[in-house]
Amino acid sequence: MPQKFTDPRLVSLNDDDGFVDSGMRRALCEALEAGEIARATYSVSAHIWVQAVLTDRALLLVKGAVRAKVTRVPLPLEITRAPDGSRKGVRVRTPLGQKTLWGSKLDDEARLLLGASRSLSGTTDPARAASDRRPRPSQNQPSSIQAEAVKEPTPDSEIAAPPEHIAPAREVRQTRRQTRQAAGPKPRQPRRRRVRKQWVGFAPSSTIWDLADNCVKCGRPLTDPRSRQARVGTKCIRIYGSQQRKIPNPRHAAWIDKKTKAEAAYIAERVGADAEYARAKTAYHEARAEWTRVRSGL
Ligand SMILES: [Zn+2]
Repeated sequence: MPQKFTDPRLVSLNDDDGFVDSGMRRALCEALEAGEIARATYSVSAHIWVQAVLTDRALLLVKGAVRAKVTRVPLPLEITRAPDGSRKGVRVRTPLGQKTLWGSKLDDEARLLLGASRSLSGTTDPARAASDRRPRPSQNQPSSIQAEAVKEPTPDSEIAAPPEHIAPAREVRQTRRQTRQAAGPKPRQPRRRRVRKQWVGFAPSSTIWDLADNCVKCGRPLTDPRSRQARVGTKCIRIYGSQQRKIPNPRHAAWIDKKTKAEAAYIAERVGADAEYARAKTAYHEARAEWTRVRSGL
């Protein structure tokens, strides 16, 4: 498979998703400064033609396929909502409005993004929370310390912090669109697997004429088909009359056997299909309940 990026500043992104479009790749290359190193690629909200790249000094929003434009958001980023439980996306304030970044393979847990952010007040320890109350002195501080503070809020700090500093991530209410996105597609109702009975053909007649090779009265060999069916020769038939009789058809017995087996196989398969359907239905109801819960933002 050909590499998406050959520029040494961008090769690390070959391991991440996104940038399948050459126009977007070119725009990204051109926007990159000398010595700027890319770290991860993110999907942006639900837009197909917008992607974000985190570098060592900025977040680059690449928008559009034809004549793609790049918006540079210098670090530190202003994160308005950190990932929380099932909500994996990170909400970031950009000149294009608030955007949810998600879906990076290289930065699966959004540690890099959070590391590139200015501290989230309230999730830090009391001392840091106090310093955050001063008008943005933390902008020039090393971001790695802030990242740790964001990732590991201690229970103590939650209690010790003043009320207005508790969990700002929760205070930012999710929009309807975000909750819908988090919930994903609606679970599909399972269908019962259709089971068909094997077609064994029409029933052959249950009896056939008993054809004799010899006359049953005198033992003379019989060749005429009518005589064979009557089971007597032309002389004996005048004396004794026709001796014709029917016997059970072996083909009919074989057919019955085949039909019985097909019936049994059909029932077994239907029992299996019913059990499978019951399982799928239970799983569906659970998935549906969860989907409804996430979608309603609970
Ligand atoms: Zn005879």
